[in-house]
Amino acid sequence: MTNPMPHEVAKLVPAKGNINGNTMDAYKKDYETSMEKNDEFWSAKATEILDWMSPFTKVCQGSFERGDIAWFVGGKLNLCYNAIDRHVLNGKGDQVGMIWEGDEPNDTRQITYQEMLNEVSQITNALKSQGVRKGDVVTIYMPMIPELAFTMLACARMGAVHSVVFAGFSSEALAQRVSAAQSKFVVTADKGKRGGKDIPLKKIVHDAINKMDCQEIVEKVLVWERFYDPASTEAPFEMDPKDVRMNPLVAVQRPYCPPEVMDAEDNLFLLYTSGSTGKPKGLVHTTGGYSLYAAYTTKTTFDINEGDIFACVADCGWITGHTYVVYGPLLLGSTTFLFESTPVYPDPGRYWDMIQRHKITQFYTAPTAIRLLMRYGDEIPSKYDVSCVRVLGTVGEPINPEAWRWYYEVVGKEKCTIVDTYWQTETGGHIITNLPGVTDMKPGSCTLPVPGIDAVVLSAIDGHPLTDADKDENGNLEGVMAIRRPWPGMARTCLGDHERYLTTYFKPYPGYYFTGDSVLKDKDGYHWIIGRVDDVINVSGHRIGTAEVESALVAHPAVAQAAVVGEPHDIKGQSICAFCMLTVGYDESPELLKELKMAVRTGVGAFASPDHIVISPSLPMTRSGKIMRRILRKIVSNEADSLGDTSTLADPSIVDTLIAKFAELK
Ligand code: ATP
Ligand code: MG
Repeated sequence: MTNPMPHEVAKLVPAKGNINGNTMDAYKKDYETSMEKNDEFWSAKATEILDWMSPFTKVCQGSFERGDIAWFVGGKLNLCYNAIDRHVLNGKGDQVGMIWEGDEPNDTRQITYQEMLNEVSQITNALKSQGVRKGDVVTIYMPMIPELAFTMLACARMGAVHSVVFAGFSSEALAQRVSAAQSKFVVTADKGKRGGKDIPLKKIVHDAINKMDCQEIVEKVLVWERFYDPASTEAPFEMDPKDVRMNPLVAVQRPYCPPEVMDAEDNLFLLYTSGSTGKPKGLVHTTGGYSLYAAYTTKTTFDINEGDIFACVADCGWITGHTYVVYGPLLLGSTTFLFESTPVYPDPGRYWDMIQRHKITQFYTAPTAIRLLMRYGDEIPSKYDVSCVRVLGTVGEPINPEAWRWYYEVVGKEKCTIVDTYWQTETGGHIITNLPGVTDMKPGSCTLPVPGIDAVVLSAIDGHPLTDADKDENGNLEGVMAIRRPWPGMARTCLGDHERYLTTYFKPYPGYYFTGDSVLKDKDGYHWIIGRVDDVINVSGHRIGTAEVESALVAHPAVAQAAVVGEPHDIKGQSICAFCMLTVGYDESPELLKELKMAVRTGVGAFASPDHIVISPSLPMTRSGKIMRRILRKIVSNEADSLGDTSTLADPSIVDTLIAKFAELK
């Protein structure tokens, strides 16, 4: 009755681009060593990859039960020193460390490691001059300009804890984050630029500090100028009493500042999750373990080599921006790319044009961007010469096999590795991903765990770790994704709420870190993330992951994005309701709805055929571009009056449209 699932029909795509001679055997050996001699494994990596001011005395201590994990105990280091100074000392001062491209394609900057050292030092001295001290939380609410990354690095240099808030968030969301962290300092810019439009960031900060208890908390607002004119003696924005102009202040500082000696377990930064499944969690990452994990995963997943130009187009407001725009590539002494604009400005060829112009060798984006761009057609990427790129990465959501193929065939011309990197804000870096030149790929699977990650699939029913005995007739295991032992990049607590940390990650399955995701592990040991545990749908006893049904819908040319949720059903328990956003040029019609149901029947199986399909102008997305199914679940259960935390919703007005659309069906 059921058709083969995507993981059953997926063909292995041979690993590509083995330029370093990495092999599957070496990966397997590395993985084995990491499991058998975990301490030795990480200790060797920590010594090889980072420079320490004093050595650590113990590799790892603590337990998941108590949530008191500590790595590289007693070790002292400075992340900023590791990311900048040591490269300058090693003779790489003249190498470009960062390429920036602004909203307009011709607005670019190249910054060498020496320039970075001087500028970051000046910013550190400027922060100190305004009263910022080691341990203070500095909230950063800025556009994607080099000064954003440099302010993060300056905080790391002096031991202040940065809390970057994505500059698309409202003043309410910003106020909540400032208040929760008791952050005395906010760094912003007078404005940002996106898609040709100005974004009044400073005004939003002004509104935020007039909310909640922020007036009492915030002492200073440090304001960068998006277009600074050194000749101007007056600020190009209205100065409020707490405002300080950053550019002229930084310009007069000494261009050297000694890096602070930090303990491996000193807090490095604070960052909120995307809020896809509930109220965002404010996670705390610490210095030593995070630095190592960022550098290690950047190197292995993207196969970074001398002379590479690495472009991750995520915003620094998310963990992807922290680990793979700023820290990972700079720790490796590579060249990182910082991008201010959007994939469709001034036209949908922007990414491919940038790859061609800057000779980008690794490019990293999200499934939502790929789905968007593929709907503009194959001709667009084909206009550009992107032969310089070797690795194309994806992160954030399961990638639909259709989008994977487009990325692989049309963008990468079947010459690049697609790395499908599975990880979370909490994990600090990739935990499951294929490796270029090493792991054969399967479209839609994030494949195998990173060495050091003891990935296990637990039974969703009683929590026992699934073994061969639990395999179904096709050799698959299905359950929840968990990790059995600590790894250096893991978050150490939730800000001001350690109980939430324990309750969310460690109490559901004692002895394990619980990711919150459901997974299928196939006969080859490949992992397929099938959706959030909370989103799994149960139709007449069939457990159905959201990813599979959504992939079947997106495979139809009329569907640009799809989200499915369970709808209460008297007989079946739940039935499927699908929300679809159409590709430009397609209109809703009874025929189309029939075709879409058929697409699910043939792609997944008759049991998964949606009872309802709602065609909507857009879907509820987080500001990081992920589908928020919990909002849709509330709508289809007639509980739209209790939507929960919606502060991370990119466009709140979509909710009313969807409620009305769904009511029409009934
Ligand atoms: P919240 O925790 O507040 O609900 P969130 O989980 O969306 O938000 P993030 O930390 O940004 O916050 O996202 C991590 C989640 O993204 C993972 O748990 C997983 O569901 C999804 N994800 C990330 N990368 C992949 C991938 N390559 N394949 C499948 N899912 C992925
Ligand atoms: Mg999460």
